[in-house]
Amino acid sequence: MVAMLSKPKKMPGDSFNISAFGCVTGQKLAKIKGSVCHDCYAMKGAYPWPVVQNAMQARLDFLNADNFVQDMAGLLNKSRKDTMRWFDSGDVRSVAHCLKIIAVAKLTPNKKHWIPTKERKLWQEALKMDSLPANAVVRYSATMVDDAPPESWENSSAVVTDIQKAIGKLCEAYRTKKNGEMITHDEYKTAKKEKAIGKLDLGYCGKCRACWSPAVKTVSYPKH
Ligand code: SF4
Repeated sequence: MVAMLSKPKKMPGDSFNISAFGCVTGQKLAKIKGSVCHDCYAMKGAYPWPVVQNAMQARLDFLNADNFVQDMAGLLNKSRKDTMRWFDSGDVRSVAHCLKIIAVAKLTPNKKHWIPTKERKLWQEALKMDSLPANAVVRYSATMVDDAPPESWENSSAVVTDIQKAIGKLCEAYRTKKNGEMITHDEYKTAKKEKAIGKLDLGYCGKCRACWSPAVKTVSYPKH
């Protein structure tokens, strides 16, 4: 039986994913060189494997089902994790999806929800119909690598090729170990030069929860 919650290895909390091959905006961006969806991690490696895609289809069916809000809220309220990251692969595909996620967030007040998205128009429509509770952040993504998201967006994210040019909070998962310790920038540079990054097992959130915080306007992720 397919588990409806996914467990990202390097992030705290629960997650939920559907296939990135069905992203509405993401699939258009994936064809554009220099966009944040070009070379998408969720369209390569193990992601295209039938077993993975079938599990994501089961999660999409769950999202589309009438009982999704009650059942997902029930699953989250049973989980001991205090954070939920929506869409470690995929994105909302309709206003109805957005409204369901808002409803789940309202029914799980002890959980913090981070909702990264490229579907700004769908969310704008949904947010005219219902408001986001304080335990949820919709983080709109800038379209192109190295582009700053518009100031008018309440919460956003960017992808940068140069960490010196990070907009807002720089995500430092790239130099964070599983135990939460961070290696220095110089150690990171040396490991990269020596092609030893893999051995260090970096990429963890550690104690950082910036993406879940409405107080953090923009998070910049270094492009790998
Ligand atoms: S900014 Fe913090 S919470 Fe967000 S992905 Fe990076 S380490 Fe994790």
